[in-house]
Amino acid sequence: MKKPVFWLLLAALCLFSLAPAWAAEGAPLPQERELTQWEMDCLALPNSRPDRLDRYAAWAAKYPEAALETVVAQVNLDQDRTVYQDVQAAADPDSTAVLVNKHYALAQDYAPELEALGWPYGSGSLRPEAARAFRAMADGARADGIALRSVSAYRSYNQQKNTHNRYLKQYKQAVVDTFSARPGHSEHQTGLAADINTASLRAHFERTDTYRWLVEHCWDYGFILRYPEGKEEVTGYCFEPWHYRYVGVETALAVKESGLTFDEYMEQTSSQPITRAQLADQLYQLTGGNARSPLPDSYKDLQQGADYLPGVAWALEQKLMAGVGTGKFDPEGAVSQSYLAVVLYRLAEPEGESPRTALSWAVEAELMGLPEDEEAPVTQRELARTHDVIMDGRDIGTVVLPQADVKIFLTASPEDRAQRRYAELIERGQEASFAFVLQDVKERDARDTGRAAAPLRQAEDARRADTSGLTLEESLRLLLDIIKETLQV
Ligand SMILES: [Zn+2]
Repeated sequence: MKKPVFWLLLAALCLFSLAPAWAAEGAPLPQERELTQWEMDCLALPNSRPDRLDRYAAWAAKYPEAALETVVAQVNLDQDRTVYQDVQAAADPDSTAVLVNKHYALAQDYAPELEALGWPYGSGSLRPEAARAFRAMADGARADGIALRSVSAYRSYNQQKNTHNRYLKQYKQAVVDTFSARPGHSEHQTGLAADINTASLRAHFERTDTYRWLVEHCWDYGFILRYPEGKEEVTGYCFEPWHYRYVGVETALAVKESGLTFDEYMEQTSSQPITRAQLADQLYQLTGGNARSPLPDSYKDLQQGADYLPGVAWALEQKLMAGVGTGKFDPEGAVSQSYLAVVLYRLAEPEGESPRTALSWAVEAELMGLPEDEEAPVTQRELARTHDVIMDGRDIGTVVLPQADVKIFLTASPEDRAQRRYAELIERGQEASFAFVLQDVKERDARDTGRAAAPLRQAEDARRADTSGLTLEESLRLLLDIIKETLQV
């Protein structure tokens, strides 16, 4: 017998069941497409995305020596994609954390709110927040005898287009791409980036005291060095010692601390959450897309005809999701990493095995989306399906887990139980009357045994354990003996 998950011994009358998981009821994954161990390992990484499994696999095949973490990180950085192909819209363009690069672009008509930097801070405008930070930085530098001036700040899509085209008259596209962004892909369009004092490699800005001051202090004002030396492969641009990007002080300091480029930092920190509906859909597709049953009628809260419905139906069938019928299932709700871990754990679980991991009740409750009491049987059943459990409750042995391996109907005389409850209350410093407590116990018994649904009664195959007159130690000994006898251990 494996370690019990929890042991709740109630001194009161209760049903007591011990139920090692039964694997037979666990629905296996469709045979058409089982997730491989490699895919499981991949999906278990915190920054992995189920919808990118194919890309991870292809990249890993290309670089078999690379560690899984590297594969996932590089694909997340779109390094498996040709730049300027499969371009996606930059998420949340108004955020100071917006990521704009050769894979993520701003719309042609995107323009932020702007504020001129003003004299003596150089030319151009930035978003108000970034403009204030720039002026504070320039003032701070001046106090140290350093002069900072913007030579280029916000540039519209069309300005960038003109600039880029001008370069194309002098150099080949491949060369221009190393130092000039194509329109829509320039950070200058965000209104958060400024070129300081120069924008020319020939100026060798990196050899100046100004540069040394900037790399030491820019973070404190919320700016980062966006295109550092030696990171050309990641950023897609050559070292630009003059180009600084405002991200806010907190993020700037975190980027400095991480030693990463902004692209890498964003890949690691911005876990773009996937929704439950998306997860259901992706798992459904990964496993061959063969939902066997349509969505039951009771799931009427879900938007009929939605793309994700077959995926959700499949996930329900696989017992990977619940709460749809009760309205507690939110298709748009983000999937947490712990939820994903449970789903994958379930999928990967070898038949007949139920290693208890650090999964907590909280995770289980989240998995089922059914934290409320009235739905507890479903949650308890689901938990027992995958783990060895010890549960207690009025109807555990009869309704919730009728197939439990060991069932104990734990009981004691009403007087004994009232005495225990009374002693408990007194110990807690509460005022109590024994007569009142006894009456309460008797009333509860009558209520519980008379219930229409799942009444309190001894399951036919349950062993009766009467603990009247026994001490706690004697009661535990009695239970242990019954368990050993039943399981023959
Ligand atoms: Zn620049």
